[in-house]
Amino acid sequence: MADIAEECAVTDSKPISTIVIIIAMRSEALPLVNTFKLLEDTDSLFPVGVPWVRYHGMYKDLKINIIWPGKDRTLGVDSVGTISASLVTYASVLALKPDLIINTGTAGGFKAKGADIGDVYIVSEVAFHDRRIPIPIFDQYGIGFRKSFATPNLVTNLNLKVDKLSTGDSLEMSPVEKESIENNDAAIKDMEGAAIAYVADILSVPIIFIKAVTDIVDGGKPTAEEFLNNLAAVTATLQQKVTQVVEFINGRCLEDL
Ligand code: SAH
Repeated sequence: MADIAEECAVTDSKPISTIVIIIAMRSEALPLVNTFKLLEDTDSLFPVGVPWVRYHGMYKDLKINIIWPGKDRTLGVDSVGTISASLVTYASVLALKPDLIINTGTAGGFKAKGADIGDVYIVSEVAFHDRRIPIPIFDQYGIGFRKSFATPNLVTNLNLKVDKLSTGDSLEMSPVEKESIENNDAAIKDMEGAAIAYVADILSVPIIFIKAVTDIVDGGKPTAEEFLNNLAAVTATLQQKVTQVVEFINGRCLEDL
């Protein structure tokens, strides 16, 4: 392709080349694996025996890696939640040295904050809602507030919603967590985002989040049931949006996103 590096806003900067996309559930990952025609790793980058899975390939000028923490070795369900997401992000960054991390997946939305089923969000800020340490400064450490990499051009171009995300290790929500989520001013909640942001932060890799709403947390329907009913349709929407985001990223430099 033409010397696109010359189009970067900052001199000496190069177009994004390697991206790592962290996805907690197989059903969220597979539509994208198919879209980008990725192949599962035969010779794993990860320690022998871990359930983590990498799908990889070239899409246009991008080296794309979709990383899924795999199935729990004992129970056989997707390894959702902060611990496996953090570990797999850490191992992936060390092995692949990506220019950008994308965490995508489903989330619960708050209708009081304008969220609707199927909405796709770019996350501006993340925090935890289940780490309560009532000691000065440790309280803020627990909340773990972090900003994601700002992508103003991407947001305008793809007409995406932008709001805050709150993370905790439960699909459901206790009254005290509800209060924390309100304090975090979040429109959506998930089980991985803020943990992945922590790893991206300590390893100094820019991170963005693309999250689609499968269930309305303050809507009166049981979360697990609503989540499962909407999972397939919302995952299809997410596939389209993530593909558009990747198309937008292709050939661009970080600071032009
Ligand atoms: N019963 C599900 C469990 C998935 S856990 C299954 O089929 O295996 C929910 C996953 O979706 C997590 O990865 C989380 O990040 C996201 N998620 C969707 N809605 C959520 C909500 N209301 N609260 C927290 N996480 C949610």
